[in-house]
Amino acid sequence: MEKSPIYLDCHSTTPVDRRVVDAMLPFFTEHFGNPSSLHSYGWSAEAAVKKSRETIAQSINSQPEEIVFTSGATEANNLALKGVAEAYFNYGKHIITVQTEHSAVLDPCRYLESLGFEVTYLPVNGDGLVELSILEKAIRPETILVSVMAANNEIGVLQPLKEIGALCQDNDVLFHTDAAQAIGKVPLDVQAMNIHLMSMTAHKVYGPKGIGALYVRRRQPRVNLAAQLHGGGHERGMRSGTLYPPQIVGFAKAVELAMAEMVSERERLVGLRSQLYHHLSQLPDIHLNGHPSQRLPGNLNVSFGGVDGQSLLLGLQPTVALSSGSACSSASTAPSHVLKALGRSDRLAYASLRFGLGRFTTASDIQQVGKAVVETVEALRSLA
Ligand SMILES: *Cc1c(COP(=O)(O)O)cnc(C)c1O
Repeated sequence: MEKSPIYLDCHSTTPVDRRVVDAMLPFFTEHFGNPSSLHSYGWSAEAAVKKSRETIAQSINSQPEEIVFTSGATEANNLALKGVAEAYFNYGKHIITVQTEHSAVLDPCRYLESLGFEVTYLPVNGDGLVELSILEKAIRPETILVSVMAANNEIGVLQPLKEIGALCQDNDVLFHTDAAQAIGKVPLDVQAMNIHLMSMTAHKVYGPKGIGALYVRRRQPRVNLAAQLHGGGHERGMRSGTLYPPQIVGFAKAVELAMAEMVSERERLVGLRSQLYHHLSQLPDIHLNGHPSQRLPGNLNVSFGGVDGQSLLLGLQPTVALSSGSACSSASTAPSHVLKALGRSDRLAYASLRFGLGRFTTASDIQQVGKAVVETVEALRSLA
């Protein structure tokens, strides 16, 4: 039988942890009730949802009522951006975001531009970080929202949320962050970081796909959002639709596990990542993309001079499942917008690999992958 390739694509998605599956199972069958129902089936589902909401809220230092469940981070981003635009357009029609955001932020922003909003797409420095002085200059009296992601899905860099939050607070502007890649991996605190809205998803932290949440601040200030899904008035009227207890319980279990294991897991992943980078460094003409240390523990993104990215991925495919820099638009052949924003040439932007290490990555995986990448790059370069 053919061996499955080693999975190093944890920024795309992660397997569901067994412990998460076990927590979810009773909610498909025994406790199948609708949390809105006024009988014992409903109550037991509602109790599980309540407990899950508390777990998720606690992990970001918010209140349970501030968590609005959604189908994932794409929906949470859409709700945050469109919901704020629709609720605050009387105050101004200017939004600030960053060139390196995920398409689930960039595309709603482009949509809002088509409705007459004005959007500033901030550049980043060579390490992929937003410069505070540039952000400060971009804020205008009519700015209603700043949206800056917590951790980048391609290069893993961690934006300075606390400093950005303070700047937004000083200028009376709402601050949204897409934390899809960050939850459970790096500490997040909506109070200390002055965050007003935060998008989350379960499937990047060993939870199920199809569930996520938007944190919506209730006081100092109370954030108003225009609902994008209308119906039964669930989730304080911000997101109608019957709640999905198995997914919600799984999301909370995934967050609980990730929080409990965050410190030890960070140390382990940083160790494995530096072994991998060390191994790759025997090759000449390689370039690390993104800040060397201010990044997700499991992320490594490297460009290889003189090779074609597609051939490299194809050559590695039997050994390792990973993505090129342009992963999130893998159907398109354009070079990664993130690597271009760092100032990488088309040539280097094409020839990049994104390594996403995770909970189930072992030292032996890293050795095999390091060896395979070095051999494949050398083979492709000798052909060129
Ligand atoms: C994966 C991802 C999303 C999309 O999340 P879904 O839950 O799959 O909709 C949004 N933003 C970032 C940064 C991501 O990594």
